Amino acid sequence: MSRPVRTRIAPSPTGDPHVGTAYVALFNWALARRLGGSFILRIEDTDRQRSTGASERMILEALRWLDLQWDEGPDRGGPFAPYRQSERTAIYREHAERLVAGGAAYPCFCSRERLDALRAEQKAAKAQLGYDRRCRALAPAEAARRRAAGEEHVIRLAMPVDGETASDDLLRGTITVANSQVDDQVLLKSDGLPTYHLANVVDDHLMEISHVIRAEEWISSLPKHVRLYEAFGWEPPVFCHLPLLRNADRSKISKRKNPVSLEHYRAAGILPEALLNYLALMGWTMPDERDQFSREDFVAAFRLESISLGGPVFDLEKLGWLNGKYLRDLRPEELLARLRGGPLADSYLLTILPLVQERIETLADFVPYAGFFLAGEVSYEAQALPRLAAPGRGPAATAKAVQELLEGHLDPILEWQVAAVEQALTSFMEASGWNAKELFMPLRVALTGRTATPPLYETMAALGKERCRWRLRRAVEVLRAMKA
Ligand code: GLU
Repeated sequence: MSRPVRTRIAPSPTGDPHVGTAYVALFNWALARRLGGSFILRIEDTDRQRSTGASERMILEALRWLDLQWDEGPDRGGPFAPYRQSERTAIYREHAERLVAGGAAYPCFCSRERLDALRAEQKAAKAQLGYDRRCRALAPAEAARRRAAGEEHVIRLAMPVDGETASDDLLRGTITVANSQVDDQVLLKSDGLPTYHLANVVDDHLMEISHVIRAEEWISSLPKHVRLYEAFGWEPPVFCHLPLLRNADRSKISKRKNPVSLEHYRAAGILPEALLNYLALMGWTMPDERDQFSREDFVAAFRLESISLGGPVFDLEKLGWLNGKYLRDLRPEELLARLRGGPLADSYLLTILPLVQERIETLADFVPYAGFFLAGEVSYEAQALPRLAAPGRGPAATAKAVQELLEGHLDPILEWQVAAVEQALTSFMEASGWNAKELFMPLRVALTGRTATPPLYETMAALGKERCRWRLRRAVEVLRAMKA
């Protein structure tokens, strides 16, 4: 008897909600919907240093915006709760012990220093990198004694030394890897928390996931996962690794070349249904080769086996074109409703009005004055453009500074507010030696297209992270093209 279809999306809440998460979620959701199964949301927050509640909230919010509804998840519970890995640590520990007891895993007492030295040696000798399995040779009684004495250790998977592991991928067929190429993966860290590999396999099994549909980058982990299923004596799910989304130059999609945060697309006024439709075209072709289709039509036609592996290019122009088609299909009342839910939402207008109010004389001044708050991209006023570059620094140095500010100080902000923006600008100035007199005018111009604006921090906070990011990125390009 085949098992009930249960798919899942398992994001790690370590940053902005990523377009790749939506892409993988869409295919998992569609399969579950087509086959009358369940779609589960699980939060993989085992990396305690990098995981944040703010990121988790944003991911859930973004998936809701796309209307990819999950049947079970941390917010709505379900028969396999909890759905947040940080609340399941006892389960992973117990499973790691089970493997140790059966000889499929072992405690490793090697210190960080030893592992670093080993790695350096292997690098120098151009040898295969990986743990040399020293602790695997310890007698179990000796290992147990050292553990009982409280000696710091991790638990590692004992990969078979000989032979091969064959893993099946629905789209790629059988992938065979020599076991000697696979490292003895750490399963449980010295703080007792699991690594991704252990937690992911244990949860997929306990949550009765039937199909693991995920990004291609996880393929190299597959032999370890298959070995874990074997060691536990569990039947593995169907694995299907989706092709990576690519930038226009065919490199792996990255924020340097393409906006990757779902928040960007929302702020840029892309309709959620257009984005979903566009993502569905990444590796999928409708039988009648239509570009525009509803999610219902997609679900009805969708076959996991028919996904094509040629790296799909995430092309902003095509997305814009498709979004335009969706916009034109709306009745004016619907379009109004979309505007009122987006750029013209009361909550947004109420944030910008205090900044605008002091600077206008008539109601008629509002639209021309506030244009930069409402637009996607800004156009630079003719007299403002030369001031995009800081005098005395020049365009190239200004481009470099803006990029550093963006990537090192603004990108990491999850809760975008006046204080956080101020703090980021201050920390950038401390680190770089730029001062406010040099920095603020270029930022003002980059963000608003003008030289006279409401106060910078408040303006940035009101514009929101995505508009700021987008405009600063464009300013970097414009500065790079400027003559010194
Ligand atoms: N937490 C992993 C991620 O964020 C999940 C990968 C998987 O689906 O197995 O990509």
